[in-house]
Amino acid sequence: MKTVVLLSGGLDSATLLWQLLDEGDEVACLSVDYGQRHVRELNSSRDLIDEAIGQGKQKYIAHKVVSVRGLGGSVLLADGGKIPHAHYEDPSQQVTVVPGRNLIMLAAAAGFAQSIGFDRVAFAAHAGDHAIYKDCRIDFIAAVDIACRLGYGVSVVAPFSRVIKSDIARRAVLLNVPIDMTWTCYEGRSESCGKCGACIERDEALASVSG
Ligand SMILES: [Zn+2]
Repeated sequence: MKTVVLLSGGLDSATLLWQLLDEGDEVACLSVDYGQRHVRELNSSRDLIDEAIGQGKQKYIAHKVVSVRGLGGSVLLADGGKIPHAHYEDPSQQVTVVPGRNLIMLAAAAGFAQSIGFDRVAFAAHAGDHAIYKDCRIDFIAAVDIACRLGYGVSVVAPFSRVIKSDIARRAVLLNVPIDMTWTCYEGRSESCGKCGACIERDEALASVSG
């Protein structure tokens, strides 16, 4: 298949990229600058694509970066306030939801897919996202899939929607994903904070693999 991967630069979407390449898909990537404080994840996306090409996974990978700055209502945005330091599925993480973001990203990816003659979009939402992020849940993705098929002739899939984070980390290791190149932390610092929900979830998942 010809698949546009929604690539954030994090562990989940990098693993999805590697998995689809290994399954023989032709891939292109779309990343979104939505005004996130951790905008450095966009650099990780570029590095990951260069690495995939360098590993001979695919000769060339188209990469589109779409800017949708101006969203509001989330601490993930550069002007959004303090990131709560708690577990990823803790209710305090509700403030990290970016209202509207995922629908916009999926629509942008579907439009990109249609424009380059690709037939589907892959999104790396995983089972652990469901507690806080309603727009990562299976029913939401199924509804977006219907809309994008009707409007753009492009399907939307989330192969990890029933996969827990530790299993994604296990797959990442098996697929030789360059895990050190991925960026997960919500804070906009040069090093990962180790305390935000995203860091805690990632660190636990990677520890479960190495342990
Ligand atoms: Zn962090």
